[in-house]
Amino acid sequence: MQGLMMNRHLLVSDLLEHAAAQHGQQSIISRSVEGPIVRHTYAQIAQRSRQLAQALLALGAGPGDRIGTLAWNTHRHFEAYYAISGIGAITHTINPRLFPEQLRYIINHADDRILLVDLSFIPLLRQLLPQLPGVEHIILMTDYEQQSLQAPDWLCYETLLAEQSPNFSWPRFSDEQASALCYTSGTTGNPKGVLYSHYSTLLHAMAACRADALGITPESCVLPVVPMFHVCAWGVPYAAAMMGSRLILPGAALDGASLTELIQQEQADLLLGVPTVWMGLLRHLHENHIRLQHVKRVVVGGSAAPLSMIREFDENHSAFVVHAWGMTELSPLGTVNLPTPEIMRLPPLERYQHQLKQGRPVFGIELAIFDDKNHRLAHDGKTFGHLRVRGPWVAERYFRHEDLSAFEHGWFDTGDIATLDEAGYMQIVDRAKDVIKSGGEWISSIDLENAAMSYSGLREACVIGIPHPRWDERPLLLVVPGHEDLDLAALRDHLAAHVARWWLPDSIVVVAELPHTATGKLSKLQLRNQYHDYYLKPEQNRP
Ligand code: ADP
Repeated sequence: MQGLMMNRHLLVSDLLEHAAAQHGQQSIISRSVEGPIVRHTYAQIAQRSRQLAQALLALGAGPGDRIGTLAWNTHRHFEAYYAISGIGAITHTINPRLFPEQLRYIINHADDRILLVDLSFIPLLRQLLPQLPGVEHIILMTDYEQQSLQAPDWLCYETLLAEQSPNFSWPRFSDEQASALCYTSGTTGNPKGVLYSHYSTLLHAMAACRADALGITPESCVLPVVPMFHVCAWGVPYAAAMMGSRLILPGAALDGASLTELIQQEQADLLLGVPTVWMGLLRHLHENHIRLQHVKRVVVGGSAAPLSMIREFDENHSAFVVHAWGMTELSPLGTVNLPTPEIMRLPPLERYQHQLKQGRPVFGIELAIFDDKNHRLAHDGKTFGHLRVRGPWVAERYFRHEDLSAFEHGWFDTGDIATLDEAGYMQIVDRAKDVIKSGGEWISSIDLENAAMSYSGLREACVIGIPHPRWDERPLLLVVPGHEDLDLAALRDHLAAHVARWWLPDSIVVVAELPHTATGKLSKLQLRNQYHDYYLKPEQNRP
């Protein structure tokens, strides 16, 4: 047919070359794994990516090959993202916080031929290697000095780069080809891989930048604390290059003090990460009487943002919490909570309540809630059901996996239970597997946790449903105290004032810390196993 548009596919390498050409002097600042903060421009990073691309080709990497990374958020990891996808291979980011047997499973399942590894993970990889028959080369992401000292039998990243020319023309191919691979942490069963394409990655990056989403612009100074091994740091490495934003990468130092130093010194204005990281940061800021200077927005996702966090960022740091929801299967962006002007005019406490919602779908993502019989449910902000999504950056199946049960009727079933209100705002009620089924009624563990966290004496709270002789399941609240003299009776009264009587946890257990999954979420499965018999025992025998 005549008169149509050019059929020129956009590829991941185009993002980097755009940044180098249009924003060549813009900075990428990275806390290196070796320690010091290092600075590069997009022009330099693009050149180094081209060198790495040629080094990978020289090692025999080709289109479709999986190349794994075990690495923090650094400039080298950023270069690897582009070099690998740029030659048509697949950037397989591996979450080093997974258990060794899961890591072994993932690397073998993906058939990674080459691994790029940070210094921190040498012992971990040495332990795994005897059971990784498919790995042909290991590249240590450091300079010659460190590599020859710490792993002389592996290849050196900087030496490989130095051997290659800065000039290289990226190959062109179909944007339907895979660009990256990420496994979900898999609370049950083996982790499942999601394969992103060049097309879905670019479309997702465009969506992420938009004003109605994360609002990344050429003026932004973005600090993704969310790891590049967790759903591509929510797409920030692509979105930042698309916009030519200043990018700050925190390396391995994710504690409150290191983050504060980087945020203040480099004047970050947009932060992204999961709630656990922000709890560490806020604690450090509070204890040291520090006020954040330049931060305008903090994107919180991965788990529900508690009201206390939304409030503290707002009142103490003039930073607005953008609550967002997503999943590995969604690249990950699904919804973003940007309030309407009407909501912004509400008194702060009412506005914070609204910010507890996970937000509206960004253009491209469609959401609906369904009951158990596959009927659509009302969008009234009250009725809750199984949340399903569809869109061009939603997976249609798992990589090398036969089970299609989550992908029926043209939707992806998220495994989340949610409400949708008249204005389109979605609120997660719970994970389907975490919701507490008490006497035929459902109790949201997230709502209960939020109510508990609004009590000032807690560092962290977790609610699980465990078997109960009379009600099938009842909630148990586990708390980590924020100070020594936590008043449990006052906490109980506080809860009674905030939730329905029959929702009240039958017991509260004080613990020194709570277990988290590899992606920083409360590990409820582990706690459910640990406390399985708690209500089945007579009260005097409970721990
Ligand atoms: P993993 O299972 O590897 O941690 P994901 O990051 O894909 O992987 O987890 C997605 C899940 O995290 C969602 O289905 C949802 O249950 C939860 N989640 C993500 N963002 C939020 C949020 N803002 N509030 C509540 N839950 C969230």
